[in-house]
Amino acid sequence: MSNTDYDVVIIGGGPAGMTAGLYASRANLKTMLLEKAIMGGQMMTTTTIENWPGYPGGIGGPELMMRFQEHCVEFGLETDSGTVEKIIDNGTTKTVVIDDKEITCKTIIVATGAIPSKLGIEGEETLVGKGVSYCATCDGAFFRNVPIAVIGGGDTAVEEALFLTRFASKVTLVHRRDQLRATKILQDRALANDKIEVAWNSVVDGFESDTSGLTGAILKDTKTGETRKIELQGMFVAVGVTPTTEFIRDLVDVTEDGYIKAGEDTQTSVPGIFSAGDNRTTVLRQVSTAVGDGAVAAVMAEKYIDELGYQE
Ligand code: NAP
Repeated sequence: MSNTDYDVVIIGGGPAGMTAGLYASRANLKTMLLEKAIMGGQMMTTTTIENWPGYPGGIGGPELMMRFQEHCVEFGLETDSGTVEKIIDNGTTKTVVIDDKEITCKTIIVATGAIPSKLGIEGEETLVGKGVSYCATCDGAFFRNVPIAVIGGGDTAVEEALFLTRFASKVTLVHRRDQLRATKILQDRALANDKIEVAWNSVVDGFESDTSGLTGAILKDTKTGETRKIELQGMFVAVGVTPTTEFIRDLVDVTEDGYIKAGEDTQTSVPGIFSAGDNRTTVLRQVSTAVGDGAVAAVMAEKYIDELGYQE
């Protein structure tokens, strides 16, 4: 029916993208995986993953991702680096515009994941690298024996707070409600840790800084509106994630928050384009669900190609 460079182009090299790559290559589909930074996605900034089956006691995020990558390569997956700018839907073929080149393909699997959300408070951007961080694994060791805060009440915030007790003199976990969102096992560990103090019903209302960087934060009580100052030298923001879908938002249907609308079959609103992992609408975002999505997306891509009866 048409000549294309690849059967499948996968965008994103996290757990979902690499699993899709493994399945597609193993199915003998000519597959290219594009990654804009380093392979591994958010797992590259995860110290230990405790709930990936088969590794009692946990495994380091980067180590697990290295094994994923080796496994993909074993089946002949091609990879390249570059940032996808846009996708053009030509009907039965697609064009991926990446930096200064174009790739044509029959199907696309979008596995671009998500990045940490910002608080959106004045001064936040200028303090990044001067006290404000979005990654405890990357920056935690810079804050030895000083007070710090972690913002958020989800799994990431609580895991980061626990990890940061290795370095900081005190960790204030700032949460906007009176109950944490994190799973019970993490909550119990955090609440039992002497170095962690929870500032309940509190949000960040401002920053204090001097020439050396962050020196404190203004917290506002969400119930009374009262404000108070806490002294700290580091602030780790863990208030959820934003899907990396800007380049495709005008092509496929997305939610108000930017998540690609796709069900368990990973099919988007455009035939031949599939969405796997943290960037799609789903009830759970974990490595295990991303891996499941990657496998489904590759099989769906194969089915789509077969049904269209492409001939080179
Ligand atoms: P999340 O579950 O969406 O939690 C975000 C937290 O930030 C919530 O507690 C939320 O408060 C708070 N928040 C959101 N916007 C805020 C704002 N503007 N100001 C102050 N607080 C704000 O995000 P996450 O913790 O990054 O987790 C993302 C996904 O990854 C989840 O599905 C999570 O289960 C998963 N994850 C799993 C593990 C694990 O299994 N070990 C580890 C990390 C992440 P509310 O609670 O009031 O909404």
